[in-house]
Amino acid sequence: MPGKRSNRSKIHNFLCPSCQCRLWRLGNTKHHLFYTGVSEIKQNLQISKKKADMISRQGAYVDPTQWIEEFFCSQHGKMWLLVSKTANDRLISKPATPSDWQRSTGTLRPELSNPTVSEYTQRMSRRADIRLRP
Ligand SMILES: [Zn+2]
Repeated sequence: MPGKRSNRSKIHNFLCPSCQCRLWRLGNTKHHLFYTGVSEIKQNLQISKKKADMISRQGAYVDPTQWIEEFFCSQHGKMWLLVSKTANDRLISKPATPSDWQRSTGTLRPELSNPTVSEYTQRMSRRADIRLRP
């Protein structure tokens, strides 16, 4: 039966930042953001310095709530947006900046990527909730 699909309430509408039209999710790899260093981890996770220090000793922290994902606008074509999951489980999106890309598990902008890199990032996003080893 149509409409029987579960998770329907979890479907979010993403809007084009340029024309406010609804965007299509392309379902490609999510490039999660990661943080390194005590101050960056502390600032982004809003945790104590002591906790941030512990995490930074184990390497980078991959943020399960923020990632860069590819979308499609019927007027503007493909675009990459930074998606953030808020505390109440809503998703918000904005255009990804070069500094977002620098902090993403993709590490390379899409126009520079190659198959080896995408294999790598797929593996990374599967274990995005696990901290990276140094
Ligand atoms: Zn658009």
